[in-house]
Amino acid sequence: MLLTPGPTAVPEFVRTAMSGETLHHRTPEFENIFKNTRELLLEMLDMPEVVMLASSGTGAMEACVTNLTHKKALTINSGKFGERFGKIAQAHNIPFVELKYEWNTPTSVEDVVKVISGDSDIDAVFIQICESAGGLRHPVEALAEAVKKINKDIMVVADGITAVGVEKIDTANIDALITGSQKALMLPPGLAMIGFSTVAVKKIEAKSYGYYFNLATEIKKQRENTTAWTAATTLIIGLGAILEKLKEDGFDKLYEKTSLRAKATREALLAIGLEVYPATPADAMTTIYSEKSNEIRKILKEEFDLNIAGGQDHLKGKIFRINHMGLVADYEAVWAVNTIEKALDKLGIRDFDGTANKIFMEINS
Ligand SMILES: *Cc1c(COP(=O)(O)O)cnc(C)c1O
Repeated sequence: MLLTPGPTAVPEFVRTAMSGETLHHRTPEFENIFKNTRELLLEMLDMPEVVMLASSGTGAMEACVTNLTHKKALTINSGKFGERFGKIAQAHNIPFVELKYEWNTPTSVEDVVKVISGDSDIDAVFIQICESAGGLRHPVEALAEAVKKINKDIMVVADGITAVGVEKIDTANIDALITGSQKALMLPPGLAMIGFSTVAVKKIEAKSYGYYFNLATEIKKQRENTTAWTAATTLIIGLGAILEKLKEDGFDKLYEKTSLRAKATREALLAIGLEVYPATPADAMTTIYSEKSNEIRKILKEEFDLNIAGGQDHLKGKIFRINHMGLVADYEAVWAVNTIEKALDKLGIRDFDGTANKIFMEINS
């Protein structure tokens, strides 16, 4: 069983939808499929423009840094993915300043306001909605509102790769919302999507930049239901299938269920004495701080056939992360807290008495 926060399991109906023969991308047949997926995506993101790129999520991050920063970027780093925005800017010789925090600590609106107020060169802010390195939720909506109050032309770029499909994102003050195929959207890796505000589109069109990741070219083409380069046809078919199903079930239902499952998991694990790592946990995943993380993960994998993720860099062996993204069945989520409680027993930390199961079931039903 795969409960890592990306890649997530691909549902059978999506695998079936993607099993047809490869279509040529410059055909009316594929353009119809593209149009359908694009419209569903615009509806889900609730933004006026969108592009789909044949790349992993990082490609979309790079496209946003290079196309939406004309002077200087502010990057928020509370973990590996926040750090990545800075590394991208550096690779392109784009000036940037970084606000850096411990991986369990969200940014504060005051910190961001202070930096922006003191540096009029900053014309774009880059942040994760959920920073997957430690599973924390940044206060993106409040930050975006504060930034727009200072100057509505400053771009707010939100990496929502582990947030879109998890919760309803308020895009009122967000200029670019990035997502990817292999997390909450339950597809194989290889497709990235970016939703844009009208102001962002104007800025992109005002100064075209780059070649493969030239967003001005992509926006122009995708408005005509085609792509600048060969489209990731199979993944776009799969995305259409997923979005159709999520819409049919109701997007809000998905958000509700994910939120409840995340809460039930957190509470169940707290009840057996474990420590939730981030100060502001995101619903995409539950991150637990434990010096015994490696031992717990080893027992889960070897004895209970369950894969969860560990930590990276200074959190290696110190945290474990359980995915809540996608259409996770209740019996899968409850298996995770049950087997973790069992692992604690095996490690002599706490006797098994079914508490995690009980708490989970009480909250998640
Ligand atoms: C997974 C992830 C990405 C993208 O990583 P890729 O490996 O390039 O798909 C970006 N941001 C966050 C927050 C992620 O979780």
